[in-house]
Amino acid sequence: MLNLKKVEAQLRTRMEDLGVRVDQIEHDLREPHSQDWGENATESEGDQVLEGLEEAGLGEINQIRAALTRIKKETYGVCSGCGEDIPEGRLTALPYATTCVNCAE
Ligand SMILES: [Zn+2]
Repeated sequence: MLNLKKVEAQLRTRMEDLGVRVDQIEHDLREPHSQDWGENATESEGDQVLEGLEEAGLGEINQIRAALTRIKKETYGVCSGCGEDIPEGRLTALPYATTCVNCAE
């Protein structure tokens, strides 16, 4: 039997970590660029990497939020494709999975 309290706590911790990381990225992105052209080009490339990380972080936060909502509504762990229970092993590996492996493919 899945311990939802534990899952919820893990999801919240993960969401907080991601929130901190996204804040840091936002902060880095706001740093003024240097005037030197060569350095500026390097920094712009760095910004693209940061923006990608920020996007990935925000995407994960959204998925975690959705999972927390499902816990509250007591629909957590039910496959949105076939309505069967998602195997516990899959939820442990991917706590915000919304489908079983079969439906994910
Ligand atoms: Zn399914």
